[in-house]
Amino acid sequence: MRVLAVGCHPDDLEICCGGTLARMADEGHEVYMCHVANGDMGHMVIMPEELGKLREKEAENGGDILGAKKVYNVNIGDCRLYSHDTEARREMVRIIREVQPDFIITHSPDDYMEDHLQVSQLVFETSFTASVAHMFPEYPVYRVVPIYYMDNLAGANFLPEQYVDITDYIDKKIAALECHESQLKWMLEHDKIDFAEFVKSCSRFRGLQSGVQYAEAFKACHAHLRDTTKRFLP
Ligand SMILES: [Zn+2]
Repeated sequence: MRVLAVGCHPDDLEICCGGTLARMADEGHEVYMCHVANGDMGHMVIMPEELGKLREKEAENGGDILGAKKVYNVNIGDCRLYSHDTEARREMVRIIREVQPDFIITHSPDDYMEDHLQVSQLVFETSFTASVAHMFPEYPVYRVVPIYYMDNLAGANFLPEQYVDITDYIDKKIAALECHESQLKWMLEHDKIDFAEFVKSCSRFRGLQSGVQYAEAFKACHAHLRDTTKRFLP
């Protein structure tokens, strides 16, 4: 199977579904990761241009640890992300048609941050647009596939439908998260938050809910053409 996971900022996939991606890669599936925003506003000191480049490298390092075949960067600036932007849609359609995923993971439509919501909407729209032959006809057409929404930060406002046991992959998830050094250092220094510990606690909580040590939580997109009898998540 091929999975395309699309997060907003360069660290969102590690936070919300990194254990699942590591497990899928380990079980022989093809994992593709994509961050739509370049994360260029995620620091008080490092300037946007430099930070964007730094965070692209951090995301590539995280993807390597999780076993991703490729990490795409749509490279849109933070807080300037609109799901109806033609160039963002063209690039997202191109990526979907290039990867040809069996299913897609992205942010939930009731996430807490506007950029995340724009990505959720962008993925929903373009995963349909990818099946429309005369939209962006320079790339070969692809079918509509199921979408799974990954957990929100701290599990807020998210009622899970499916859990994935990531007990054997929690160390890889945290190691991949720690590749996003600029973010972890910044949060520790400025917000006094140990973000690796925070994310591990969330996985432990989802594990308590589902009877394993560590888990990640998902829910399906139930729009027409998205539901299926098949379980795609491990
Ligand atoms: Zn984010």
